[in-house]
Amino acid sequence: MAEKHFIVIGNGPAGKEAAFTLRERDPESRITVISKGRASSYTPHLLPDLVAGKIQEEDLYGCSLNSYAENDIKLRCCQEVVDLNLLKNEVVLEHKEVLSFDGLIIAVGGTPRIPENLLAYKDLMYTLKTLEDAKIWVKKLQQSESVLIIGGDLTSLVLTKALIHLNKKVSFILNEDAFWPLRYDDDLFKEAAQRLTDKGIKVLYDRNIKKIEQLQDGTNKVQVDDQVLQVGMVGAFFGLVPDIGFLAHSGLRIDRGILVDKHLNVGVENIYAAGDCAQIYHPDIKDYWISIGYENARMLGRTAALNLNCGCREEEVKPESIFEVQGININTTWWTEF
Ligand SMILES: Cc1cc2nc3c(=O)[nH]c(=O)nc-3n(C[C@H](O)[C@H](O)[C@H](O)COP(=O)(O)OP(=O)(O)OC[C@H]3O[C@@H](n4cnc5c(N)ncnc54)[C@H](O)[C@@H]3O)c2cc1C
Repeated sequence: MAEKHFIVIGNGPAGKEAAFTLRERDPESRITVISKGRASSYTPHLLPDLVAGKIQEEDLYGCSLNSYAENDIKLRCCQEVVDLNLLKNEVVLEHKEVLSFDGLIIAVGGTPRIPENLLAYKDLMYTLKTLEDAKIWVKKLQQSESVLIIGGDLTSLVLTKALIHLNKKVSFILNEDAFWPLRYDDDLFKEAAQRLTDKGIKVLYDRNIKKIEQLQDGTNKVQVDDQVLQVGMVGAFFGLVPDIGFLAHSGLRIDRGILVDKHLNVGVENIYAAGDCAQIYHPDIKDYWISIGYENARMLGRTAALNLNCGCREEEVKPESIFEVQGININTTWWTEF
């Protein structure tokens, strides 16, 4: 019988864990990991430390490129999956190559969310999701003494720590999306604003960006209501949304993320989703939850691989660890102190 071919889309914590678990359980199968990222799997939550200059790029990597080869896992970096054909069990890559599979795990994670009203200024605002983003921050910060952060999700708080470490002047526009995915309430909002202020950060409450314009010297003129700020860099931090646009016409059930059952199956034999892109059914709360955080992603990647390999393992998440934020049920392993 021909060997089975398993494909994992994504080489973040969920995808990497899925691929190595598949290999652990099935020494014979062909395993391909496809990632639009350039590098081996790294630890995303160390990116702010790279920006702060506290660590070097090599400190980010949990495993080397060699370890994929040693485990007979084919890693295809810089390759983006742009379509999924459920009838033929095929994925289509951006350069038109078509790969067929016997089993598929989708672990494509999230991508930074930019609110509609700011999309026009997308190119002038920086986010921090990938290693490439971190390198851009490092480079741009060499010429920028001041940074304006808009939004205020968890990533922005860790990045702000890095900026303080670098003695940058930070202004912060906190709005009602602040601290997503943490539960928004007035007291938390005030406390966060106070903590930022105590650290020497200028906090602007409930203010709206009217315009961002790049000046000839490379700095940015930002009109915030009737006030004008001039800053070196603008960062946009409104949380992450699942990076699943390429599945829009696939026939998979999609809501906020890819809808999966308690075994992480998408409703099609041998296809699973794991990590930040999955939205998982919980039989006790009779609703779907999404996962955020490094440890969750790894755990889900492992579960998906075990199930694809023949198991029927369920995600054991206690209903009380799932909380609702703006209509979305969330379970996160990501807590941060600022
Ligand atoms: C700056 C930062 C700090 C963080 N800090 C913490 C923290 O302190 N604690 C914590 O628990 N969590 C933290 N997180 C969150 C944590 O990193 C994520 O929850 C985790 O990485 C999710 O893993 P994932 O594998 O689901 O997705 P991701 O890590 O997003 O990986 C997705 C992978 O899919 C690939 N991909 C996407 N689309 C395609 C496609 N179409 N074709 C091919 N490949 C594709 C990407 O290139 C990537 O390899 C942080 C995240 C960031 C960005």
